Formats: sequence, C-alpha cells, structure tokens
Amino acid sequence: MAQIRIENLRKDFGDFNAVKSSTFTIEDGEFFMLLGPSGCGKTTTLRMMAGLELPTSGEIYIDGEEVGGRRASERDIAFVFQMFALYPHMNVRRNIAYPLRSQGVSRTETKRKVEEIARLLGIEDILDTPVGGLSGGDRQRVALGRAIVREPKAFFMDEPLGALDAEFREHMAEELRALHDRMGATTVYVTHDQLEAMQMGDKIVVMNHGVVEQFGVPQDLYDWPASLFVAGFLGSPPMNVLQFDGAVSEGAGALELGGTSVTMPVTREGARGRLALGVRPEHVHLDSDSGYRGRVIATEYLGTTQIVTLAAEHGEVKARIPSDIRVAEGETAGLRFDARKVSVFDVETSRALR
Ligand code: ATP
Repeated sequence: MAQIRIENLRKDFGDFNAVKSSTFTIEDGEFFMLLGPSGCGKTTTLRMMAGLELPTSGEIYIDGEEVGGRRASERDIAFVFQMFALYPHMNVRRNIAYPLRSQGVSRTETKRKVEEIARLLGIEDILDTPVGGLSGGDRQRVALGRAIVREPKAFFMDEPLGALDAEFREHMAEELRALHDRMGATTVYVTHDQLEAMQMGDKIVVMNHGVVEQFGVPQDLYDWPASLFVAGFLGSPPMNVLQFDGAVSEGAGALELGGTSVTMPVTREGARGRLALGVRPEHVHLDSDSGYRGRVIATEYLGTTQIVTLAAEHGEVKARIPSDIRVAEGETAGLRFDARKVSVFDVETSRALR
C-alpha cells in the first residue's frame, strides 16, 4: 500500500506544456481516478507517477520518498495498459507466473501464488488454457492477475477497459472495484469517461488542458463543481449554465435572475459583472407559479424520468422530472430552481464563487 503525493508537477514536450503545475495527494488504499478529455494530460501525469516519463519540474513522493528520478522498476508499482500484452503461446498459468519466475521466486511458491490469484479472479478453471483462445474478459482477468501477482505497492491503469464493449465494460468495472476492495492496494486509474470515474472512484482529479480543475470525492465534484469546466464535464446531461450580468452580495443572500429570486449559499461578497448560474437538471422543477418561464423545445423519455429541454431567457435549461408529468413541445412552463443546490460562477475566471 502506498500514499502518493504530487507537488507542482509539470511536463513540457519541447515548447508544449502538457501538464501544468499539478498538486494533489492519493491516500493509501484509495481507488483514484484521473479524469479529463482527450489530450488533457492525464496519461502523461500517470506515466510520470509510474516512472515512464521524467517530470520537467516538481516532485512525486511515494510514501514520503521523492521518486521523480527513479525508474519504473525501482518504484514497486504495476502498470496495467489498455492493450494488455499477454504471451499468446503460453497458457494462463505461465502468463500470471511470468513476473515471479523472472524474479527468481521458487516453483512451489509461484504455484501457490498463481493459484491464489486465480481463485481471487475466478479463473481457476482455465489455468491450463492457452491465452490465445480466451475471451476479452478472461484476457483482462489474466492481465490483472499478472499485474497483481507481485503484490506491488500501487497499481497504475490507463483506460484498462477501453477496448471492451459497453456491457462487458460495466461488468469488468464492477469486478475491478471489488478486486480493489479485497486487496486494498492504492490504484490510480486514467479515464475520459465521467460515469466510470464517478462509479468507481473514491476520489477524482479532473484535468483540462494540463490543469487540475478540481480534486475530491465524486459527490462533492458533482454537487459543487469548482469551475465551469467541471460543471459541464460531469453529469449526463451536464449542469445547466445560465449566463447573466448581475451581482452577488452576502448580505442579501439572494440573487436575481430575470424575475426569479434564488437564495444563495454565497460566502464571497462583491462578485459582479458577467456571472453564470449552474443548476443540475434534477434541481430544476416545473412550477406554474414561477415568473421565470421557458418554452419546451424537446422531451426525452428515460423510463421513470424524462429530460425536458426548455428555451429560457438566458439559454437552454434541461429539467429531469418524473415521466408521468405531461409536457408538450411548444408549451410554456414556469421554472423553479432548487436554491440550495445552485452554484454561481465568475465567467471571467470560470471559477465557482463559494
Ligand atoms: P488521451 O486520452 O488522448 O491519451 P490524455 O489526457 O491522456 O489524452 P496525454 O496523453 O497525457 O493526454 O497528452 C497530453 C498532451 O501532450 C497531448 O496534447 C499530447 O499530444 C501531448 N503529448 C503526449 N506525449 C507526447 C510526446 N511524447 N511528445 C509530444 N507531445 C506529447
């Protein structure tokens, strides 16, 4: 098990700054997600932690020891790649045993360990099958087995489920999380899939253009996004963002938006100018008494709920409401926002006002 601390980590590729001064801590035993769109620098960050890429500046501490200059092989970690490279001509047993055999672990000990891991992964029955003929899921399990057999301090995984189809992917995600809970080893996991990150992660770092936008537990990121980017990246559909010219003052505790007044948990006074109000679709309600109105432009049926899209004065608003409420395209409806769940952002800095 290991605590991993990143301080002011930076990576340049020539003139291009891929990772800009990142700082965060991964606690011992955490399942930690590096999340962001393609090209945001998450793989580069992971590769620096794993010792596969040298940082341009900044520090990486594993259990308090600075490891930035050390090679991957000196860090006692295991890397699980997306394209898990197994030895197709070898059977499952020999694939899993490989790291132990190459470390000179005895035959009896290797056999015991491989069988223990196979039980943990539920692949005891196929130990003598060549990996060439296995299904995608079993190959993934064998690859995991090979990574965990050495009992490293930490696992690094770069989109390990990326090659699997959706249904299978969900199943493997559950297995992976359950395996982590049994083993308890610190795991750092790269993904661009926000749903996967929220479902699997104890904590998430959201990156964008090489910058750490926010870091914390999934629920906090979802409820209180620190920036407009996080507000728009998490959730499907994402948070509604309505821009307006206004002012927030602590004394009043209320914010005017085109006739509707919401009480805000605002603690920073004096923000004025171009602001944005962020509200999740599940915190938007249809209310005929509200003076803030929108025209229904689309409805999407989702079983117990539906997503209703309305055109309002400040832009489109999506509401997630029970599907037994009848709404017709073209009609006008009053909108009420759950005031305690609303965020306000300064558009210029794109940061949330707290
Ligand atoms: P993806 O999911 O597409 O891999 P990512 O968030 O993991 O995205 P990185 O792979 O870390 O992103 O890349 C961040 C940026 O750095 C990208 O613009 C990429 O083109 C660039 N980059 C990565 N590796 C190198 C390299 N060896 N040389 C030059 N540029 C690189």
